[in-house]
Amino acid sequence: MMVRPYVVFGILLTQYLLANVIWAGSLGARDARSVISPRIAIVIDDLGYRYEPGELLATLPYPITMAVLPNAPYAFEIAELATDEGQELILHVPMETVHEGEWEEGLTTAMNATAFTNTINAMLDDFPHVVGINNHGGSMLTADRGRMYWVMKELAQRELYFLDSRTTSASTAIAAAQAFGVDHASRDVFLDHVQSDENIAAEFDRLRQIAREFGQAIGIGHPHPETIAQLRHQLPALIAEGFELTYCSKLLTRAPNKPTDYSRHHVQPIR
Ligand SMILES: [Zn+2]
Repeated sequence: MMVRPYVVFGILLTQYLLANVIWAGSLGARDARSVISPRIAIVIDDLGYRYEPGELLATLPYPITMAVLPNAPYAFEIAELATDEGQELILHVPMETVHEGEWEEGLTTAMNATAFTNTINAMLDDFPHVVGINNHGGSMLTADRGRMYWVMKELAQRELYFLDSRTTSASTAIAAAQAFGVDHASRDVFLDHVQSDENIAAEFDRLRQIAREFGQAIGIGHPHPETIAQLRHQLPALIAEGFELTYCSKLLTRAPNKPTDYSRHHVQPIR
């Protein structure tokens, strides 16, 4: 039987329209604006070694999710500044990597349950205004499902979210978060793996593509001068192009029936 081209086109068009209606419908209950405004969250981690970049990021007139290293010399000052300025604050928790030699004090696979739990609790107790955490390193630890359960157990109790930095494709963090009812998200793009204007701009374009395709995207960057310079240029451009900039907590996969208010520490409304 001959199938006429316009019939095939008609069927494809109908399927396309139907798929869009279903997609828009599934998002509609959560946030109807997603359909017209893809949302982007910028997370800057590794904060705390220098004061100045923290201050620059905290006072940018755009929502930035700021992740401080708990043991860094300016961690407390930057954490305070971030919350005072109404930015979102999360803790950048050091986790064991598969590489030797570049290790900071944090969570390791060698710790027993008590030492492990005490370590993460001490870090979280020091920063009462964080609304979530993401992993610094962690290519070893996030691949360890049992250790991730220990992490998620504490986060669930404190109603904190987990952002998986995705330092290994073997990460079990999201599955563990789901098991414990912890709200979670995964990093889509590392913005400044190579610190050149050209590369960072290309990574921002990748972030745009993902946000357009899926309705949202999360980019992680670091407090390098090149990154901050690009943020000043890219963030107003994203808004002009119709993207909505927001905090990481707005792009989480939420556990059912768990209405945690992550804006509890935002002293100002979202800018
Ligand atoms: Zn880091």
